[in-house]
Amino acid sequence: MIQPGIILSEFEKQEESYSPDEIREKESVHTSGVYSKRQVTIVRGKGAHLWDADGKEYIDCVGGQGAANIGHANQVVAEAIYRQAQILVSCPEMFYNDKRAMVGEKLCNLTGMARVFLCNSGTEAVEAGIKFARLLTGRTEMIAAMRGFHGRTFGALSATWEKKYRTPFEPLVPGYKHIPYNDLDALENAITDQTAAVILEVVQGEGGVNPGKEEFLLGAREITRKNGCLLILDEVQTGFGRTGKMFAFQHFGIIPDILCLAKSIAGGIPMGACLLSTEMTALAPQTHGSTFGGNPLAASAALASIQFIEENNLPSRAAELGVWFVQQLAGIQSPLIREVRGKGLMVGVELKQKVTPFLQKLMDKGVMALPAGLTVMRFLPPLVIEKSDLEIVVTAVRDVLTDSLESGD
Ligand SMILES: *Cc1c(COP(=O)(O)O)cnc(C)c1O
Repeated sequence: MIQPGIILSEFEKQEESYSPDEIREKESVHTSGVYSKRQVTIVRGKGAHLWDADGKEYIDCVGGQGAANIGHANQVVAEAIYRQAQILVSCPEMFYNDKRAMVGEKLCNLTGMARVFLCNSGTEAVEAGIKFARLLTGRTEMIAAMRGFHGRTFGALSATWEKKYRTPFEPLVPGYKHIPYNDLDALENAITDQTAAVILEVVQGEGGVNPGKEEFLLGAREITRKNGCLLILDEVQTGFGRTGKMFAFQHFGIIPDILCLAKSIAGGIPMGACLLSTEMTALAPQTHGSTFGGNPLAASAALASIQFIEENNLPSRAAELGVWFVQQLAGIQSPLIREVRGKGLMVGVELKQKVTPFLQKLMDKGVMALPAGLTVMRFLPPLVIEKSDLEIVVTAVRDVLTDSLESGD
């Protein structure tokens, strides 16, 4: 039998090769430089908790930026990848494979979609969606939303709104328009007979935790259908229970033509998927592909992770805890707060000033959270988080949003 505990204890016996300072120094010397980093070295996780190299414990509301819905060091996924690593890791899609067949069936059953292209990240899922929309419609133009985030490769970046991500890389892919999110009239006016697809998040993540309005999403579904273009939903961040349903579009009873998934799809193992609805025809061979896409290791991790999400009812857990968490945060009396909003355990606290100093103060108090845009404090905790941990988070947020008033910064 498989005993991941044995592997872990072997690992624990190893001596630390570098001190915390040395680790940060080496990373700083050798990094490309594209990331801004916090001065903390994270070496271990369990469930909704992280530990740094000095042994300090944190409640994790970064959640691997949305990749850790089932919690860190999940034994179910650990066992699945340990087992699969000894059976078969590499198996390109020129062959059939048992694990890939199972994960494709599972994803289609869960979403109501018909076909799947497997890849390795969110941006690749979006990139595939954009290419497939061109193939399926014979049209080239795309409509995306202001404050939308879809990834960093050129097609996905062209759909992304944020200037600092886009400007250094111009010219981007031509034919993209951005409309205000939740503005149905603007969307209707932007669509032409050359529009291949409209791409939207169901809740905008990076752009500030902005939930899509029901009439906007339903309207977008109807208008795209009426105009012969496709609706691509980017659920890279909202998928796999995050918003209180397995997928956020399921709150609205709509179904997209193309659905992009990644982040928590495989328990934190890199994987992405681009799914096509029953109304889409199969694509021609050789039009797209990926070396690592659909590899049995990631597929096994996805199967185990999805089963864990279902067996532990993580979507309804996210829904219940999310309602409570938003209520508690909204009850904080601080003139610094502009608005608290969210869906499930995807929660944002919009401040009237820059969020970064407050994220640092939260970290000092043992709570990790992330920004969304310049002013929003974003919480993406693993969905396995205990309510008692969220209570500590609420207290810490209350403290940092009132302490700072007293200290005057
Ligand atoms: C994170 C994210 C992406 C990009 O995913 P990567 O795996 O970082 O390429 C795309 N879309 C949305 C909505 C995301 O949140």
